[in-house]
Amino acid sequence: MPHIETPEPISTPVIERQQETARRSALASAAILDTAPEPAFDAITRLAAEYFRADTVLLGFADDSRVWIKSYWGEAVGELPRAGSIFERVLAEGGPVVVPNIANDPALAGSRLRLRRLEVASFASVPVRSPAGEILGNLTIFGVEPRRKMVLDELRMLESLAEMVANQLELRRLRQALGSHAPRPCLPDRKISSAWPRRPDLRRALDQRQFVLHYQPEIELTTRKIVGVEALIRWVHPDRGVVSPIDFIPAAEECGMILPIGDWGLAEACSQIQKWCDEDLRNRSLRVCVNLSARQFAREGLADHVEALLRQFGVFSRQLGLEMTESSLVTDTPTAMEVLGSLRRLGVSLLMDDFGTGYGSLHHLHSFPFDVLKVDRSFVARITDGEQPLQIVRTIIDLARALGMNVVAEGIETHEQYALLQQLGCRYGQGYLFARPMPAEDVSKLLRLPGRVLPHSPAAANLPN
Ligand code: C2E
Ligand code: MG
Ligand code: MG
Repeated sequence: MPHIETPEPISTPVIERQQETARRSALASAAILDTAPEPAFDAITRLAAEYFRADTVLLGFADDSRVWIKSYWGEAVGELPRAGSIFERVLAEGGPVVVPNIANDPALAGSRLRLRRLEVASFASVPVRSPAGEILGNLTIFGVEPRRKMVLDELRMLESLAEMVANQLELRRLRQALGSHAPRPCLPDRKISSAWPRRPDLRRALDQRQFVLHYQPEIELTTRKIVGVEALIRWVHPDRGVVSPIDFIPAAEECGMILPIGDWGLAEACSQIQKWCDEDLRNRSLRVCVNLSARQFAREGLADHVEALLRQFGVFSRQLGLEMTESSLVTDTPTAMEVLGSLRRLGVSLLMDDFGTGYGSLHHLHSFPFDVLKVDRSFVARITDGEQPLQIVRTIIDLARALGMNVVAEGIETHEQYALLQQLGCRYGQGYLFARPMPAEDVSKLLRLPGRVLPHSPAAANLPN
């Protein structure tokens, strides 16, 4: 079993029993020890590794005898004995522990700090706290080289990453209070388990034009008027039939094929905007939204690329919207800010997708220049379950309004959800109740409806799939 070996345990002052009891009960209420891995945690450890150029990053939570590693980057570590661990030291300090060079650390002098294969020369560890401030675990970066002293800003960065972990725990608790199932994995963070598709499969699919875009109408809730559509990619596979993006976008992200596939998607959507405008000039008021992955977004020059496409197809920037999830922004925040700023200046709409499923959601709302917030469908699905879920959606809508953002509710499936969202003042929505994603030709038919207004159900049920 992999573990940190020190000849002498790191000296551990006795932890007050009372303090430990409070800590354990906070840990139980966070329910972190028994639950499945949280994809968001992997994004956080990866981010820490990239930012600090660390050789290994561990995120662990401690019960009375062990530190359970819930996410690692670098050395694969599952659990560690708690006695003599870095966690103990963080707990004793009640805050961060920074050891730039183990050889010079009085508590560790003469020790060898080893992960499974890694001989550690430096580490820095910060606590992950419960909302009441109890230390539940720690986030630690390890280096094989001694590092220069950690400057204050760097330490703040590590602490804010630990805060993101804490925010994520809070969101989980909220979801559990809602009685919802485990959160849907965020696409960019999904671990790729299946062998298919691999890069050559995706390359062939792109070359052989097997990808298509379907479009799902987005409507103004009070009028049922179509105000936009969301482009959703499908893979029409010769043997497997229509493959959902959930089954190939994560692989495409992993192997880098998302970049050419994403470029294709953007160009295809712009070309379709041009076609709809050729059919009827009034369609110029329609906004077509394209989903962007983290990697597309982290690429410099995205705004230039989008601008070139708009020119090529004679499309106004307000006719294009770009959707991204919070997790795609967290991987490289400074680049994200820059890219978002350039896109914003270009005049395209920026939509925050799947709101509520990501990291410190509220924090991102304040710091990034989004025009539209899309409430994740897991929240919409629960809205009729009682006062608490309703209250959450109400808060999200009020918050967006206060920040001058429009709100789109995703995944509206029932009349009851529809009515409640209207009562809450949600202006826009999309979902199977109105229309499923459909080929461009079927959207053309809907766009010819008088006033572009969708018929009431049950006619909606007959809309093309
Ligand atoms: P998303 O952007 O949140 O898209 C909404 C998803 O919810 C779509 O799934 C849509 O078909 C589905 N949906 C819409 N209304 C309802 C409803 O009333 N009930 C239910 N149960 N589902 C509804 P889809 O098309 O399978 O796409 C899944 C995800 O794949 C998208 O989530 C998006 O993150 C990603 N994706 C799709 N197209 C692209 C693309 O071109 N590029 C990238 N990078 N990602 C894409
Ligand atoms: Mg979307
Ligand atoms: Mg969404």
